[in-house]
Amino acid sequence: MVELNGKGTVDTVQVALRIRPLMRQEIERGCEECIEVVNGGPQVLIKDLSFTYNYVFPQYITQTEFYDTAVKNLIGKLFQGYNVTILAYGQTGSGKTYTMGTNYSGSDGDCSKLGVIPQAVADIFDHVEEYEDKFIIKVTVSFMELYQEQCYDLLSGKERAHSIIEIREDVKKGVILPGLTEIPVTSTTKTMLVLEQGSSGRVTGSTAMNETSSRSHAVFTIVITKESRTDKNLATTSKFHLVDLAGSERIKKTKASGERLKEGVKINQGLLALGNVISILGDENSKSFITYRDSKLTRILQDSLGGNSLTLMVACVSPADYNLDETVSTLRYADRARRIRNKPIINQD
Ligand code: ADP
Repeated sequence: MVELNGKGTVDTVQVALRIRPLMRQEIERGCEECIEVVNGGPQVLIKDLSFTYNYVFPQYITQTEFYDTAVKNLIGKLFQGYNVTILAYGQTGSGKTYTMGTNYSGSDGDCSKLGVIPQAVADIFDHVEEYEDKFIIKVTVSFMELYQEQCYDLLSGKERAHSIIEIREDVKKGVILPGLTEIPVTSTTKTMLVLEQGSSGRVTGSTAMNETSSRSHAVFTIVITKESRTDKNLATTSKFHLVDLAGSERIKKTKASGERLKEGVKINQGLLALGNVISILGDENSKSFITYRDSKLTRILQDSLGGNSLTLMVACVSPADYNLDETVSTLRYADRARRIRNKPIINQD
């Protein structure tokens, strides 16, 4: 059961701010830190502004500490039948991929660097072992990339041009992605191989990897079905979306023109639509219709934002004064997400 907040409802969206350390090049350039964490958090000060989130993780926080504090308890909720979505938001270079662990290419024995995905996968299989006596549990994964409002299947094994997936709507099932490769997995090792395979597809699939990956959204999805061994009617299906969003930097800063501008516009379409959905969900007085249809990103996440879903938005920022404007913009976006609260939730226990 999700903890109630005294009003019979729960805070379905949690916001974590993660500040990465200054990079060597930034120190060499003479950059200084422009964000201050008040008494260890969760309040931060920047310029003359103050923001408070559910969690604030300062520069020195390790991957394990981040995971244990903000993510670990969500894995238990997945096994109770809730959908869970984790979104990493921020400008390029702010630590989204590092935090999510999307670019996994083997742990090379150093587990302290593992991001959210590898740690969550290991936890999921620990839970599977725990529940296996009483339940039949199936785990499948899929991995897609959204680039210029196209959805690419990173696990199809096909050339990029042939791996495009269309989104459809089914009266009963809602949003579906016919043809998307869903790989059944039975262990952490197998799942990590699949993640690695998908990440490498992302790299070889584009001519300029950095350019594309910072401008595309990567969506790794784990679906867990749990069915009682004694009562077939006791079954739940949960979706766990782990999303490494495109860089949130504004186009004018990247001096975009031509094709690049088109890319920027398309990407912003996803982030803009996500921002609008977040704003409407967060405004208790809003009578606006929730505009999931405005982008592929929000359509795919439609059944995982609001309603019977738990969302963690991780806002990633650089502490360098050089990035001040982008950091303030990320803090404001995250502040809008923080206002989504007290949505009724159906207990599936
Ligand atoms: P993004 O995905 O937002 O573009 P990355 O995750 O690639 O950014 O991070 C940019 C650089 O900063 C990488 O070299 C990464 O290893 C490093 N980095 C990011 N966050 C941290 C952190 N919390 N601790 C140490 N290094 C980090």
